[in-house]
Amino acid sequence: MQRLFFTYILFSISTLAAANELHYRIQTDINLEERTTEVNSEFLLQRSTRNDVEKNILDVSDNLDNIEVTYFLNNNIQLNDEYIKENIRSLIHNYSSLLNWPFFSATLKPNIILFDNRKEFEAYQTEKVGEYRWHYGYYSKSNNEAVIFINDSTKDSTLTILHEVSHAINYQRIPSIPGWLNEGLAEYMSKISLIKTDDTKPVSKYNDSTLSIKKFLKRNYFNDRNVSAKQISNYYQISESLVAFLISKENQYLRRTLTSLEKLPFSLSGHYKEFDRLYPGGIDALAENWRQWANNPHEN
Ligand SMILES: [Zn+2]
Repeated sequence: MQRLFFTYILFSISTLAAANELHYRIQTDINLEERTTEVNSEFLLQRSTRNDVEKNILDVSDNLDNIEVTYFLNNNIQLNDEYIKENIRSLIHNYSSLLNWPFFSATLKPNIILFDNRKEFEAYQTEKVGEYRWHYGYYSKSNNEAVIFINDSTKDSTLTILHEVSHAINYQRIPSIPGWLNEGLAEYMSKISLIKTDDTKPVSKYNDSTLSIKKFLKRNYFNDRNVSAKQISNYYQISESLVAFLISKENQYLRRTLTSLEKLPFSLSGHYKEFDRLYPGGIDALAENWRQWANNPHEN
């Protein structure tokens, strides 16, 4: 049942720069690594082991029934619990079948909070995470909240919900997940999981020939305020494309590497070394195989 909370709380509102409204949808997450290191150990203790996969798949519907969606809606928007859960069920199915990742344990399921008023979204975000930085949605690890701005497009709004919920899944499995992998999985999984509408978004096969993959994998551009919005948008596409390549062509390697990352502390260079160590021929070979895949439009 859809519960509507028409907001009555007045937040202090600062002026929005008009240009900020035009940020890319995909610039959506918040990276709270610095603030939430104390949460990581809790995540590590509580998350499920791989042996729980079957049980977790069976529990999915129970978990979803318990998932809390809070609506702060002023307008009549075509989103309801049933539709949202149907999409999240699809997302969980894809994580389970492609990566063998279980769903959240009951205590770790994220709260989903939706706003359709920009100023209320901004005020909530400022209060919860200290600033208004994410224009379409964010996932906060410390609050375990996926907070999303709902616009006129049901498709785009649902993709953003799935993107942010993916972060909850990613962090549960790999608390120290590198930025590119976190974003690439969120982009890829949300697109392939969206319950089909008339027009779907194709998965990116983008491959930037000027990109230094080594540099890319070793840095977290997504949390770097000196990187332009346009360049960040590029990095989202690149991450999505790389994840799509790994899942469709090198899935066993990806699964093995992800399992290895689960045990690692947060260290971009440490993560990079695992990718390099486990790929036959190392990162150079991976880059070359990815490039060939991306340049072949007929190869999925
Ligand atoms: Zn994200």
